[in-house]
Amino acid sequence: MLGLLKTGSRVIKLVKIPFACGECHRIMDDGIDQCRHHPSAKVTTDWQGYVIVWNPQRSEIASRLNIDEAGRYALKVNIR
Ligand SMILES: [Zn+2]
Repeated sequence: MLGLLKTGSRVIKLVKIPFACGECHRIMDDGIDQCRHHPSAKVTTDWQGYVIVWNPQRSEIASRLNIDEAGRYALKVNIR
């Protein structure tokens, strides 16, 4: 396979999975690996279900996940 790949002509951007906080399920911005609300909480890329909450007070999902702030959240976070 050596020599078959040409590099430099095109940059391929890999899709990175953002981290989610194991405490509040908040999904972090690109390059952030620590929850600003829970600096000591574990973060992981092993999560499922992308939820954007605009209005936590009127969102059923938000109340079920105990979310009280608008933002992006993971439905399920797997912390080992
Ligand atoms: Zn958090």
